[in-house]
Amino acid sequence: MDSYRSVDIRIGFFVKNHGDGDLFDGPMKILAHVFAPPTRFFHLDGEENWVADGKYLKEGMVDLESAAAHEIRHLLGLDSFEKEAIMFPTLEDGTRKVELSRDDTEGLQMLYGSNPNYNGSSTIYTPSRE
Ligand SMILES: [Zn+2]
Repeated sequence: MDSYRSVDIRIGFFVKNHGDGDLFDGPMKILAHVFAPPTRFFHLDGEENWVADGKYLKEGMVDLESAAAHEIRHLLGLDSFEKEAIMFPTLEDGTRKVELSRDDTEGLQMLYGSNPNYNGSSTIYTPSRE
């Protein structure tokens, strides 16, 4: 329990009234919310039809990674009203939105600066199996 108190972000699933004054509403509409530092809660509505693997995503289901990408960026201070941005305030059910738009990237760079070592490539590889 000590480690829970000292972490940077407390993440969990909650339903309806869960004691922080910001109620969840059951399936759809409100999916998750965060409380900015120093509180740093990241709460997900436990009554959503969450999907962790995007390939099973259908209408009526909510992509967990898309919601997490959005909310964690809120904790970093980001926001956006550009439709293709991860930070756009709504996420349609059955859709996945995890690719950073130009607006998402520029917002981060405005707040934290750009990475001087970034070479324009974002490729990631699995380890080779010999
Ligand atoms: Zn909450």
